[in-house]
Amino acid sequence: MGSTIGIIGAGMAGLTAAHQLKQEGYEVTVFEKSTSPGGRMATRRVGNGRMDHGAVFFTVRTEAFQKQVDEWVNEGAARHWFGDDHPRYVGTEGMNPLMKQYAKGLTIQLETKITDIQYEDDKVMVADENGNRHLFDSVVLTSPLPQTIEVLNGSTLPISKDQRAELGKITFEPSYVGLFDLKFPVEIGEKGLLDDDLPKGILKIVANDQKGITDSPLVSVYMDGEWTKSHDSESKADILSDILNRFRRAVPDQEVAIAAKQLKRWQYSQAEAFFPATYVKLDHLPVYLAGDCFLDPDDEAAGSRVESAYLSGVDVAGAIHKDRKDAVK
Ligand SMILES: Cc1cc2nc3c(=O)[nH]c(=O)nc-3n(C[C@H](O)[C@H](O)[C@H](O)COP(=O)(O)OP(=O)(O)OC[C@H]3O[C@@H](n4cnc5c(N)ncnc54)[C@H](O)[C@@H]3O)c2cc1C
Repeated sequence: MGSTIGIIGAGMAGLTAAHQLKQEGYEVTVFEKSTSPGGRMATRRVGNGRMDHGAVFFTVRTEAFQKQVDEWVNEGAARHWFGDDHPRYVGTEGMNPLMKQYAKGLTIQLETKITDIQYEDDKVMVADENGNRHLFDSVVLTSPLPQTIEVLNGSTLPISKDQRAELGKITFEPSYVGLFDLKFPVEIGEKGLLDDDLPKGILKIVANDQKGITDSPLVSVYMDGEWTKSHDSESKADILSDILNRFRRAVPDQEVAIAAKQLKRWQYSQAEAFFPATYVKLDHLPVYLAGDCFLDPDDEAAGSRVESAYLSGVDVAGAIHKDRKDAVK
């Protein structure tokens, strides 16, 4: 086919679009600002263990995603955690190792932050923060939408006022995650997850050892957007001790003894509202936006999540393939 595609972001949406387009014969390059692929499917090494501090699990509601998840399960990269109705899956060794496995075979430029995008002589030019310019026939941006909009605002691409206004409506919740290395294990529900009837501000508590991704007693405590915003002016130490107090109140009959603790803050965790289409093409330009906040209006779960990022990646790749075929007719 000979067409070149640039993809910004090596999270679930970007890697999925990259695989689909590569299979169709396109020359695909993915740019990722971090040191590893995975995006919000993130895992941190703590001592000899590891803990997920982004996505906790993923559910499956579509045949397309089920097929992909079955492949990961057969490869040993993912496994069923619990639940029969919309079962929950996890990366066998955590979310990031799963994404590293998924990224295999793709051309990814890590530690490359894209800061500008322009359209010149029928090519889309993306520039990284070191001033390197890269030319493509089509480009997909899969960073969380507010970050994508920042890049677009800095460019001279002719984006219509209506399209800008529609995109600008989508906002994301921030989230603090307290990461606790315990001196001895604490039982977090039957399966290692508490997500109901918790002290105010806590969304989820996850025992990574019960979840099966580590032998060490490592617990992640996820705070909601409202709590996160209302504690932003406090010191990291105060935020961590507040999270710890709430965690202790959630397991009142058990002793929580801390060996070490860390704090992670996500500026963009999950979308507060979603865009009612699985991707967007900028008017009259071979530039596409995708990611977890782009959802089919009939999406059963109606929320941004790992599966919505996957489905967005599949659909944007299909659209690019169709548009490229039409362009060379
Ligand atoms: C704390 C937390 C808990 C969550 N829990 C769950 C859960 O339990 N279940 C679930 O299904 N979902 C959960 N999610 C949401 C899920 O992780 C996301 O919906 C999904 O991973 C998003 O994938 P994505 O590809 O759309 O975006 P991302 O994973 O954000 O990928 C975008 C990538 O773009 C990169 N990037 C950004 N800007 C640039 C740039 N300028 N240049 C180059 N690269 C750039 C980023 O580094 C990132 O790797 C959670 C998220 C968080 C943060």
